[in-house]
Amino acid sequence: MPRFFKEGKGAYLWDADDKRYIDYVGSWGPAILGHADPDVIHAVKTAAEHGLSFGAPTEAEIEMADLLCGLLPGMDQVRLVSSGTEATMSAIRLARGFTGRDKFIKFEGCYHGHADALLVKAGSGLLTFGNPSSAGVPAAVAADTLVLGYNDVEQLEQTFSKLGTQIAAVILEPVAGNMNLIRPTEAFLSALRRLCTEYGAVLIFDEVMTGFRVGPTCAQGLFGIQPDLTTLGKVVGGGMPLAAFGGRADIMSNIAPLGPVYQAGTLSGNPIAVAAGLVTLKKVTAPGFFTALTAHTQALVEGLTTVAQAAGVSFTAQSVGGMFGLYFADKCPNSYAEVMACDKAAFNRFFHAMLAEGVYLAPSAFEAGFVSAAHTEEDIRQTVKAAERVFSRWQ
Ligand code: PMP
Repeated sequence: MPRFFKEGKGAYLWDADDKRYIDYVGSWGPAILGHADPDVIHAVKTAAEHGLSFGAPTEAEIEMADLLCGLLPGMDQVRLVSSGTEATMSAIRLARGFTGRDKFIKFEGCYHGHADALLVKAGSGLLTFGNPSSAGVPAAVAADTLVLGYNDVEQLEQTFSKLGTQIAAVILEPVAGNMNLIRPTEAFLSALRRLCTEYGAVLIFDEVMTGFRVGPTCAQGLFGIQPDLTTLGKVVGGGMPLAAFGGRADIMSNIAPLGPVYQAGTLSGNPIAVAAGLVTLKKVTAPGFFTALTAHTQALVEGLTTVAQAAGVSFTAQSVGGMFGLYFADKCPNSYAEVMACDKAAFNRFFHAMLAEGVYLAPSAFEAGFVSAAHTEEDIRQTVKAAERVFSRWQ
């Protein structure tokens, strides 16, 4: 039975039966400040007093665009939308319009929202249900989606040498978080950058999850790789429906009304969502924010690994900034195949035992977890203690 929640405050959620949980899902990423952060709630209330939606530009929207372009060196221009799905769908359309090519590459296990052409071997719920694609997606729509292995440099090089001049874009999660957590190798990222430049394909970093979650300049800043386009969501809206796509001016200028690629949205840049996002972004990019969040997340994964290994359980964990992966395996997986080889039954058992202990983890072995700035050292300690109790009755 899924839990129904009725309240969230800081690091905690309360279900319909008043049971409290330490939350490591954070609404699947946005709640980086914890639930109902007072500054975000204040900004939302204040903005709401002035009207819910105008369908026209606002000053706050410009402030948000300036902030994003100032934070990410490769972002010359940005457009606001209302969901990660819209951001990635629009980025793909833009890349196709800009290059005049139809094919694009995605990686097995990466999820980029639910636009038809992207629902091919996607991760997240689709992996959980063992469904490699989705009903309702016509074969013709998916025919130009090439699916390669994450971190497989050789396959990437071979594909470019065969089809490079037909490839409009490569889209990836620069830390994969929809097939548990997979780190990109340095060789993979640099091959992506090199091949996209060589063949004139648009490199799209889908940072809907990693954006302002792994560091103040997103995964691209952390790894020092500049994509051509970036998609953002989750944290940028601080819990409200806001997302964005942006990047090189020569590409972005192809969007209507300046260029021929259509994109629009009634609620795009919605003033309430922008107000929540602005406060959130200012807080997460303040000095020291990510030092603390990264340390807390690191303490969680080290604590869990220590108690699991002490109990003789085959388990390991890792984190990047405020996101983490837990694996019932002896080493952290580096590919889709290695994730699939982890012990899924053990994860399910762990999830339910932790839920009974009052710890809410993502209910799937294929999702990354999230720590917020509201999680205290004591919350982490309590979580590790709960895991210790669970592992003590494991055999
Ligand atoms: N891209 C990535 C990397 C995501 O993690 C998600 C959502 N989990 C999306 C796109 C889609 O975002 P949304 O659910 O806001 O449409």
